[in-house]
Amino acid sequence: MKIYLDHNATTPIDPKVFSAMLPYLQWEYGNPSSIHHWGRQAKVALSQARCQVAGLIKAEPEEIFFTGGGTEADSWAVQGVIKAIPKLPADKHIITTQIEHPAILKTCRYLEDEGVRVTYLPLDQYGRISLDNLEAAISDKTVLISVMLGNNEIGTLQPIARIGELAQKRGICFHCDAVQAAGKMPVSVKELGVNLLSLSAHKMYGPKGVGALYIQTGTAIKPLIYGGGQERDLRSGTENVAGVVGFGAACQLAQEELPQRQAGLEKLSAFLWEQIQSQINEVHLNGHPQERLPGTLNLSFERVLAEDLLLNLDLEGIAVSGGAACKSGAHQYSLVLQAMKLPAERLHSAIRISLGKDNTEEETRHFVRTLKTILKRLRAGMACR
Ligand SMILES: *Cc1c(COP(=O)(O)O)cnc(C)c1O
Repeated sequence: MKIYLDHNATTPIDPKVFSAMLPYLQWEYGNPSSIHHWGRQAKVALSQARCQVAGLIKAEPEEIFFTGGGTEADSWAVQGVIKAIPKLPADKHIITTQIEHPAILKTCRYLEDEGVRVTYLPLDQYGRISLDNLEAAISDKTVLISVMLGNNEIGTLQPIARIGELAQKRGICFHCDAVQAAGKMPVSVKELGVNLLSLSAHKMYGPKGVGALYIQTGTAIKPLIYGGGQERDLRSGTENVAGVVGFGAACQLAQEELPQRQAGLEKLSAFLWEQIQSQINEVHLNGHPQERLPGTLNLSFERVLAEDLLLNLDLEGIAVSGGAACKSGAHQYSLVLQAMKLPAERLHSAIRISLGKDNTEEETRHFVRTLKTILKRLRAGMACR
């Protein structure tokens, strides 16, 4: 039995998404910029996908700009806003958090090298920022706030709508990375009060290498990539038509299935957590107990190393993750858990279980049985070391 419990790293392409993409990988190969039949067909497909993506987040289609994934959307949002402001770097200030995705954190580091000032807000023990800290960090130089909706490692949700209100009141541009939240819970750019929002297709049953940046009409932003002028001159390069079509189909599907998906993920992760608590001791839930993404469980198991757990689960055909997917292989503790100031024991024993829409109760039962056996063996071994 093979069980995939690593949906925050990536999801499989849904069969409906795959079928929607196929023609564009085969005979519908036109370039959307061409004026002939093939080009027009591709252009129609692009605009349909734009509507589908906009629909999921309650935006207007003309506010959706396709990118080469979530990383590009994040990095573009931050660099694009900063570049659009005609001031010296030292007169620009960004506020973000210590637990953003590397796409944000490393872009901010780069901008710091360029002279921009960045505040990385600290987190409480559940991985939440405080609005008071945020408000205190705002100065007359603050030009951008970037805070993620749901964290990929621990699932903790940030109070985005309240940050949005604050940003709006102070006239500061507000970006939100909603890559993990989209498709798992309602995401409305209007209710969140954001100016910019990042999405990625492969975290919601679409293909890899395609995503979008929502840019509210009127937001000042420069391109990251210059060229032929596609995406209304803000993101050049011949469009990834098949990818974009798949992304659109994935958004449409997510919108249709959202209530069931959200309820299903919440129910299954509650069931899994109950089973783990009743059958396994010395286990801790990392992240916020309620304000969390549906389906994400970050757990620390005392007296074991996460790597040992991951390897042994993999031998049994079960895929989970230690922290973020991007770091697998590197023997480095999660920066997210470190930012929450968890004790060392909790850092090196943490694994992330991220459920998907197609996981079953039977799979979670099998997972808990296997986990229990492995833990027993590892913990007995640890005692002799
Ligand atoms: C995966 C992820 C990204 C990056 O998206 P890619 O499409 O993989 O580049 C950005 N932010 C968050 C929160 C993510 O989970």
